[in-house]
Amino acid sequence: MKVAFIGLGNMGLPMALNLLKAGYEVTGFDLVQSQLDIFSNAGGAVAKSASMAAQDAAVIISMLPASRHVEALYLGDTGLLSAASGNPLLIDCSTISPRVSQEIAAIAKVKGFAMIDAPVSGGTSGAQAGTLTFMVGGETRDLEKAMPLLEKMGKNIFHAGLNGGGQTVKVCNNMLLGIQMLGTSEALRLGIANGMDPKVLSDIMSKSSGRNWTLELYNPCPGVMESVPSSNGYAGGFGVDLMLKDLGLAVENAQGLDAHIPLGELAHHLYGAHSKAGNGQLDFSSVFKLAED
Ligand code: NAD
Repeated sequence: MKVAFIGLGNMGLPMALNLLKAGYEVTGFDLVQSQLDIFSNAGGAVAKSASMAAQDAAVIISMLPASRHVEALYLGDTGLLSAASGNPLLIDCSTISPRVSQEIAAIAKVKGFAMIDAPVSGGTSGAQAGTLTFMVGGETRDLEKAMPLLEKMGKNIFHAGLNGGGQTVKVCNNMLLGIQMLGTSEALRLGIANGMDPKVLSDIMSKSSGRNWTLELYNPCPGVMESVPSSNGYAGGFGVDLMLKDLGLAVENAQGLDAHIPLGELAHHLYGAHSKAGNGQLDFSSVFKLAED
């Protein structure tokens, strides 16, 4: 089965590599040549454009940064909804606005394409290990078609609801994640200011009621944990600007609904200040430095 994979970044590349390993014929496209080179060296076919990658594909997967990139990929005269041939299943794994996701799926439906939103959680390590969590929005029959592929990239696959439902869950999850990372950083800073060893503090809190994912598996304090971005100069991982985008999606989503998210708004403000200070490309756990400043 031919699969087109558009967006071979920190997440898309390891996801596409897992499909290759599982025996799928995968054609990839990205704007960054070095990512294409890694993909090609691993046995992937490389296309010169997204529409060339999509030609004759049974499934098209996109893993792009934000709503505007996904709109540009699928919509317009040169977008895949106009250019794609055959009847491919469309799977957008990017984290984007639930509203935009619904709009694109509705246009896809009019043009005869089945589309699901399938944003992920689990970070780059989950993408590499093939243990991502997928939050899927769309028709059950389309999820069933996608399932064999999703199972090669993830471990937990949830049907959240109709189109846009996966994105809604993802926005809620990442707002909570962003807030937790700030809270964990603040607690660690307070302990350190009291002369505590951050590793001892983390070990105790991880077995106490303050335990959470950022403390236990993605500790923001350098040196506490191996193989996490904080112990590697905050390189790789999940960028500050991507977290800022997701918090922006939460703020936008809450506006107009009867939903009040004061902590989400504060987190959006704090990650924004951190990004403005030149940290946008660092991993989001670098907000630990914001607590220091
Ligand atoms: P990334 O910036 O590393 O990768 C995005 C890739 O898309 C880049 O390689 C870029 O060159 C490519 N791209 C942009 N426009 C393109 C186009 N028109 N055609 C082809 N390629 C294009 O981002 P990422 O970390 O891989 O994240 C991708 C998505 O997954 C985002 O929506 C992010 O919020 C979400 N996400 C990321 C993580 C994480 O830990 N990094 C975790 C869960 C979800």
